[in-house]
Amino acid sequence: MSKKMCKLVKEDYLEAHIAEYIEIIKKPKYICKKCGRVADEEGRLCKPKKIKD
Ligand SMILES: [Zn+2]
Repeated sequence: MSKKMCKLVKEDYLEAHIAEYIEIIKKPKYICKKCGRVADEEGRLCKPKKIKD
């Protein structure tokens, strides 16, 4: 999966891939400054900011 989560969610990704989504957000390392979503890789977010580690 290479597309950004921020965009995927708008495309009804969640409903079809909820288990995969949970894996991505389970241990978040980045937060999106624009939409507030979290992810394990900054490439998944449109405005990523590293969460303090
Ligand atoms: Zn975003």
